[in-house]
Amino acid sequence: MAFSYWESKEWLEGLDLCVVGGGIVGLSAALFAKKKQPDWRIAVVDADPLGGGGTSKNAGFACFGSATELMADRMALGDQSARDLVQSRLNGLRLLRETLGEVQIGFERSGSVEFFMQNGMTRFPSIAEIKDLNDWLSEVTDLKETFEVIQASNFPERHASDHERAIFSRLEGVIDTGKMNRSLRQKVSDAGIDLISGLHVHAVEQLNASWTLTVERGRETTSFDAPRLIIATNAFATQLLPDVDVQPVENKVLVTQPIRGWDFRHSVHVDAGYVYARNIGDRMLIGGGRHWELDEEKTERRLIEWLHSLWPRTEGVAISHRWTGTLGIGRTRAPIVRKIGMHGVVAVRLGGMGVAIGMSIGKQAANLLEED
Ligand SMILES: Cc1cc2nc3c(=O)[nH]c(=O)nc-3n(C[C@H](O)[C@H](O)[C@H](O)COP(=O)(O)OP(=O)(O)OC[C@H]3O[C@@H](n4cnc5c(N)ncnc54)[C@H](O)[C@@H]3O)c2cc1C
Repeated sequence: MAFSYWESKEWLEGLDLCVVGGGIVGLSAALFAKKKQPDWRIAVVDADPLGGGGTSKNAGFACFGSATELMADRMALGDQSARDLVQSRLNGLRLLRETLGEVQIGFERSGSVEFFMQNGMTRFPSIAEIKDLNDWLSEVTDLKETFEVIQASNFPERHASDHERAIFSRLEGVIDTGKMNRSLRQKVSDAGIDLISGLHVHAVEQLNASWTLTVERGRETTSFDAPRLIIATNAFATQLLPDVDVQPVENKVLVTQPIRGWDFRHSVHVDAGYVYARNIGDRMLIGGGRHWELDEEKTERRLIEWLHSLWPRTEGVAISHRWTGTLGIGRTRAPIVRKIGMHGVVAVRLGGMGVAIGMSIGKQAANLLEED
């Protein structure tokens, strides 16, 4: 269905920048581009009315990694690169809190805890390994003990045995994902940027000095032009750029009904972060499990088993919300932020920590665009 004269004139003609993808990265990129160039006319287009990616479906961990996850990162990336990754997560979370406001994103410094399951894939690290991890991290966290060993039975609702240990970090927190997404959209709208939802971009092509975006509208395709382009479609990036190293991976999330008098108030990592849980008020959320490589039904069943095993009082409590979100992962954990053609940037592959790094990746994309 072609755009009418009015639609074209009001929304799509005379753009200075078009951002494809209205998640945390695309919206932040638009926001920081507008800060640098207040006169630019900017539109963000997204296929989904509420943002169909991780930004509206994530678990709301404002985190930088559990102890065993960071130990694995150190092994895989080496000391310096793994520490740089932690630093970028901490910086990104600070930027998010400062830009949108802690109240506006429902930020709580809940502290996080890592539990170890008998049938899990991680073993409890030795005291020497935890000390080594803390020494390595102190430069970026300014804490002597980023991770503390603690009795699992100290946590309300856990009913753990006396010899079960856990690892606590007081630095991590949680956000309200819905509030974060809403306040980011509001900020973008207040800055005079148009967010056009429900437009699926089918193809992008650079001809002469301009990008042509072909979009699906109803059963037809039509197109519009913009001189600058940022692609921030994360897990779905290969639909527009077949050569980027991004793979979509599904992640299941479950939320229980409210539980009377529920008193567990932390974010939780299990199996090096592949399984995660937290309270949302008096409900529990649990998700992940992609490393089990099970089908959706079996993953859900095992997540529920682990929920019951960790917090026996959740047994018999119904699941009220269940959904699947899509992560964008690749051969390495680092996001891709690079130029494409002239006046084009791609900013994708946020992995499982996009809440932490998403806004700073958007800012990087806006900076990179300016360099042309
Ligand atoms: C279930 C789940 C739980 C998670 N939990 C956490 C967590 O607790 N903490 C954390 O830090 N991170 C978490 N993440 C990761 C985090 O949510 C993502 O890394 C982050 O939101 C990615 O942001 P983005 O802007 O790059 O992409 P997205 O939020 O995925 O946005 C991409 C947007 O592009 C749009 N789009 C795609 N293709 C097209 C197209 N062709 N045309 C138009 N629009 C298009 C999509 O509709 C989407 O809105 C989780 C992710 C999932 C899936």
